[in-house]
Amino acid sequence: MKALEERIRRDGIVREGNVLKVDSFINHQMDIGLFEEMAKEWKRLFAGKPINKILTIEASGIGIAAVVAREFGVPVVFAKKSKSINLDNDNYCTKIQSYTHGRIYDVIVSKKFLTKEDHVLIIDDFLANGCALMGLLDLVESAGATVEGIGIAIEKGFQRGGDLIRQKGIQLESLAIVESMSEDGEIVFREQ
Ligand code: 5GP
Repeated sequence: MKALEERIRRDGIVREGNVLKVDSFINHQMDIGLFEEMAKEWKRLFAGKPINKILTIEASGIGIAAVVAREFGVPVVFAKKSKSINLDNDNYCTKIQSYTHGRIYDVIVSKKFLTKEDHVLIIDDFLANGCALMGLLDLVESAGATVEGIGIAIEKGFQRGGDLIRQKGIQLESLAIVESMSEDGEIVFREQ
C-alpha cells in the first residue's frame, strides 16, 4: 500500500537489531486516518471471506485491529500477555517470545471469546520471525476456530516469518514488505 510505504519512508526510523521504529504513526502516537485506509485495503483483499471476528495481541496490535473490526463490522479480541500462567479451564494459553524484548510471555484468550464457530482474521502491526503469529495460530487451533487470513501492517521480508506463514497456505496480506533497511535510513520495499 503506497500510502503506508511513503509514511514509513518519511517517518520510520531504523534502529540496531533490525528494529524499525514507527512510533509517530503506529506504535505510540497512532494515525487513525491511516489505519482506516489500511482497514479498507484489508476489506478489499479479504472480500468474500466469512470473517466474524478479528484477533490480535496486546499491546501494539490493538489500535489497528480496533479500526479493522469497525470496517468489517465484527468484534475484536486481543490475546493478553500474562506474567503468571493460571492453568484454568477458562482460557486457552500459549507462549510467545517477544521480538523487541526477547522474553517469553504466556498469552491467553478466554474460551468465551474464541470458539469453534469463529472465522478469524488475525491482525498485527509487524511480522518479523513469526513468533507472535505462531502463538495466535496456536490459540485459534486450540479453540477449534478457523483462520480466514492474516493482515500485517509491516512485514520485514528479510526475516523468516512471512515464509513460515505462507508455507502453511494461509492468506497473508502485508500492506508493506520491507526487503532491506539500514541505519542510515535507506528502506527498500518489495514490489507487490
Ligand atoms: P515476530 O513475533 O514476528 O518475530 O515479531 C512480531 C512482533 O514483534 C510484533 O507484534 C511487533 O510488536 C514486534 N516487532 C517485530 N519487529 C519489529 C520492528 O521492527 N519494529 C517494531 N516496532 N516492532 C517489531
